[in-house]
Amino acid sequence: MTTNNLKIIPLGGLGEIGKNMTAIEYGRNVLIIDAGIMFPEHDMLGIDLVIPDYVEYLNDKKDWVRGVVVTHGHEDHIGGLPFLLKDIDPETPVYATRLTTGLIEPKLQRHGLASRVNLKTISAGEQVTIGGLFEVEFFHVCHSIPDAVGMAIRTPAGLIVHTGDFKFDYTPTWGPPPDFGALARFGAEGVLVLLSDSTNADNPGFTLSEKTVDEGLDKVFREASGRIILATFGSLISRVQQIINAAARHGRVVAIDGRSLEESVERAQALGYLDVPPGLLVDPTRLKGRPDHQVTIIATGSQGEPSAALGRMASGRHRHIPIKQGDTVVMSSRVIPGNEQLVGRAVNNLFQRGARVIYGKADHVHVSGHASQEELKLLLSLVKPKYFIPVHGELRHLHSHAELARGQGLPAENIFVLENGEVVEFDEDGARKTGRIPGGWVFVDGSGVGDIGPVVLRDREILSQDGFVLAVVRLDEKTGRLLERPRIITRGFVFVKENMELIERAEEEVIAALRVNGQDPQSSIRKTLSSFLYSETQRQPMVMPVVIED
Ligand SMILES: [Zn+2]
Ligand SMILES: [Zn+2]
Repeated sequence: MTTNNLKIIPLGGLGEIGKNMTAIEYGRNVLIIDAGIMFPEHDMLGIDLVIPDYVEYLNDKKDWVRGVVVTHGHEDHIGGLPFLLKDIDPETPVYATRLTTGLIEPKLQRHGLASRVNLKTISAGEQVTIGGLFEVEFFHVCHSIPDAVGMAIRTPAGLIVHTGDFKFDYTPTWGPPPDFGALARFGAEGVLVLLSDSTNADNPGFTLSEKTVDEGLDKVFREASGRIILATFGSLISRVQQIINAAARHGRVVAIDGRSLEESVERAQALGYLDVPPGLLVDPTRLKGRPDHQVTIIATGSQGEPSAALGRMASGRHRHIPIKQGDTVVMSSRVIPGNEQLVGRAVNNLFQRGARVIYGKADHVHVSGHASQEELKLLLSLVKPKYFIPVHGELRHLHSHAELARGQGLPAENIFVLENGEVVEFDEDGARKTGRIPGGWVFVDGSGVGDIGPVVLRDREILSQDGFVLAVVRLDEKTGRLLERPRIITRGFVFVKENMELIERAEEEVIAALRVNGQDPQSSIRKTLSSFLYSETQRQPMVMPVVIED
């Protein structure tokens, strides 16, 4: 068996938005691109975050990992790094640009890894050889965070181009326009395989430039007579810069409210990626006495989270900044699918308190950081890959992207729409899917990594929907007879006071269940009670028998 074939294994970010991670394998050498996290979906109760399932793949290959290369500082690309580095050798070199390393460092500190990790700062245009094998050239791309790069990876099997997250913005907020020259150069050199961002692949046309947000914000600032409150993500550093610029143009100060925003603003400013005129930033507690038309507040809570700064303002629970008549509130970020209801509720609350709320596409207060169809086609025609793997996106995005590539003349058999864990192998005869690494999701909650499985999640789901029912029975140790009437205790199931009759009948069911001879009282109670409660209420609480033998 030949081992010196090139393999590409996407470990995360395919069939989903988030937790991006790809492994490139050649011989006994592995290069990892990004290690992101995903924030949990609504049905993952009590889960703090989800990391890619690289465990199975790296299980017997930990010492093959030569390095990790990182495209940019968003959580879905860097959030999983501490977990990955703890699992492999923490001294494995990690290559990232200056802002990205600046955002990685505090994470490593929180995980006690800072002194052991080998962080290497690179910049766009630079080339490094990793593990004596992978020649990686980083190239500048435009995205919603400064200092983002894509990479061209030269391997003995051929050239791989990975775009990272990108869009073609001719008038970006930060840095030069996209490096079309580098892309065309790769195309001329001959690209074996392209991996490209699919997040907006079902979006026709071009993604609007960040510049249009400047115009949208200027309109808001011109029209507002009271305070302006903008909700966005701390990770959208380019957006924060635009808001700061607009505030400066219109003679307003800016207060930052919300921990994640404060942290990333502080970090980006310290590293020189945020340009803030002196005296412009003020503490949110110091706004009293300042005329409303001189105040801008940037707040967390763009997803309607009730506990974030904007959520507390909207519900009147904010200590310093209750929403009042005359306020203008701007939602300047996309709504993550699944959060529509929360955002809707927050917007309603804001209106109710007398604010003017600006949200949605029409007002140009937000544009996406990802390329739309025309940009993706332009990329494909510059890079001219032999094979194509759409990455970063749900299945529909990956399929739209694959269709674009077919439209550009790429043969269908050269395009691989993959799921996480599927292996594409390249040799003299071409490329094909050669396997699949078993894997799923790895959940992280307060207690640790990976010790929560689907069963625990299912239990949490049942508890959250239908509550639980405890059946407490005291049995005679010797005879096994009931010593007293069973007691039923419920939480989150039914309102007991109004359902006394149901509870009494449930107790009768428990007594009947115990009369069945030769059965374990625990399982007998569980079975009988579950089916009784379901037939009476069409709900399925978690039934937990507590058998005390006296
Ligand atoms: Zn990103
Ligand atoms: Zn991303």
